[in-house]
Amino acid sequence: MGSLSLAVSDIQTSTGGMRSSPTLLCTPLMGTTVDQMLIEMGKAKEVGADVVEIRLDCLRKFSPQQDLEILIKRSPLPTLVTCRPFWEGGQYDGDESKRQDALRLAMHLGASYVDIELEVAYEFINSIHGKKPENFRVIVSSHNFHNTPSSEAIGNLVARIQASGADIVKIATTALDITDCARIFQIMVHSQVPTIGIVMGERGLISRLLSPKFGAYLTYGALEAGAISAPGQPLAKDLLDLYNFRLIRPDTKVYGIIGKPVGHSKSPLLFNAAFKSVGLNAVYVHLLVDDVEKFFKTYSAVDFVAGCSCTIPHKEVALHCMDKIDPIAKKIGAINNIVRRPDGTLTAFNTDYIGAISAIEDGLGVLNGANPAVGSPLAGKLFVVLGAGGAGKSLAYGAAQKGARVVVANRTLERAKELADKVGGQALTLEEVADFHPEDGMVLANTTSVGMKPKIDLTPLPKQVLKHYCMVFDAIYTPKDTRLLREARESNAIIVYGTEMLIRQGFEQYKNFTGLKAPEELFRTLMEKHA
Ligand code: NAP
Repeated sequence: MGSLSLAVSDIQTSTGGMRSSPTLLCTPLMGTTVDQMLIEMGKAKEVGADVVEIRLDCLRKFSPQQDLEILIKRSPLPTLVTCRPFWEGGQYDGDESKRQDALRLAMHLGASYVDIELEVAYEFINSIHGKKPENFRVIVSSHNFHNTPSSEAIGNLVARIQASGADIVKIATTALDITDCARIFQIMVHSQVPTIGIVMGERGLISRLLSPKFGAYLTYGALEAGAISAPGQPLAKDLLDLYNFRLIRPDTKVYGIIGKPVGHSKSPLLFNAAFKSVGLNAVYVHLLVDDVEKFFKTYSAVDFVAGCSCTIPHKEVALHCMDKIDPIAKKIGAINNIVRRPDGTLTAFNTDYIGAISAIEDGLGVLNGANPAVGSPLAGKLFVVLGAGGAGKSLAYGAAQKGARVVVANRTLERAKELADKVGGQALTLEEVADFHPEDGMVLANTTSVGMKPKIDLTPLPKQVLKHYCMVFDAIYTPKDTRLLREARESNAIIVYGTEMLIRQGFEQYKNFTGLKAPEELFRTLMEKHA
């Protein structure tokens, strides 16, 4: 499929002004008894949902007249009633006419919506012809648990659903790749009737998070992790609090973190809170990406994707998709920050080295009472980097750029040599560096994973060597206070935590995305709270 270059104006005009109301948040009730569902309704309202979906097929026992009356009348929120049959991925395997009777009864008892499957929609809608209460709407749904068909096939499906007499079209497909969501976004933007478009599965998450951007009528958010009604469904609480769902509009800029895996990243928490704190019309989402090139080709609009952070395993591959690369990032051979310029081109940075080096410079500044106007306190320093992986490269190039004399020590000497050659430095093995102290007042930066959780008793250098260093930095941030840093402190060295590198690279990313200074205190508070 082609790229999703939907401009804001496209979205607004193509919906012909129909998208007047914001996307509703619906929480499915998955209780197995009426009492459980009543409790869940209360919680859904507390969380901030707009609608509850009563999943009749989840009830172990069901007395239509009595139970529906209780559930619909006592609901503190408008109700959507669904009784999903087995043949459409639900739990109901009883008589079809009884199922449709229950849905008709729900309509008469005041449900705001019922959801009926496309296969039986004609029959159901005919049966209620002329009897529909005002403000009652029929959602006609189609679920595909295998894939997301072509745009043409989805278009045909929408036409069939519309022809059935649906008030609201619902299409749920399955994401095999994050770019599958683009086809559903296009359908939602161009649909002439209110549409619910969902791409199920982890790779379809953005179809839910960004549903307000593309004018979805409604999306689903679970009450709790164990109560999702479809694969990949986020929590209602996360939609509202983590992703600022209510603030997303058609012209909202979309940022995110691309990686695989990516769900563990705390970046959405930091960036969304930061955007909200200054009223920026932007959202930052988790982007589970398999194929970076396909991702950037598909989401090529200036507002989507407006920029992204980049993590494992894409830091090197993504380089090939960029129009412009910061010279140091190019030398390091890895990027972690990508910004789309107004002309649509992509520029990449490596903010890891900026974060680490600025933290080390500030630490040395404290030590020397240095004046920043004089230049970097790293200039002329002997700078020993342990490790030659991604973080090692960032530190070695960053320090060399500031005029430090760089030594790279690594378990695999070949890798140390390769990096040392590139930065004009010296290479050592980890054993050799233990006896290496040509002078005092050196700077040490550990970028190996030695000492990282769970092996927190390990350290990459013996304590007795540390007296030759005036400053010790450890890139590891789990735990924050590593054995290396504890022993360095005891040896009277200034220490710089890996968390400082982590947070400062975030400040830099924020600046690149927005052109604004990051709200540093907010970032720090959130990092501490969610460590
Ligand atoms: P990487 O590319 O995989 O490199 C790992 C490095 O550690 C290599 O030099 C490797 O040596 C060395 N190493 C691994 N196990 C070792 C062992 N048992 N003994 C001696 N050396 C060993 O990883 P990376 O991305 O650079 O990350 C390295 C560390 O930095 C991790 O703890 C990571 O969490 C941290 N980090 C922190 C930040 C931050 O913001 N604070 C950012 C990035 C990374 P070989 O070459 O011999 O394999």
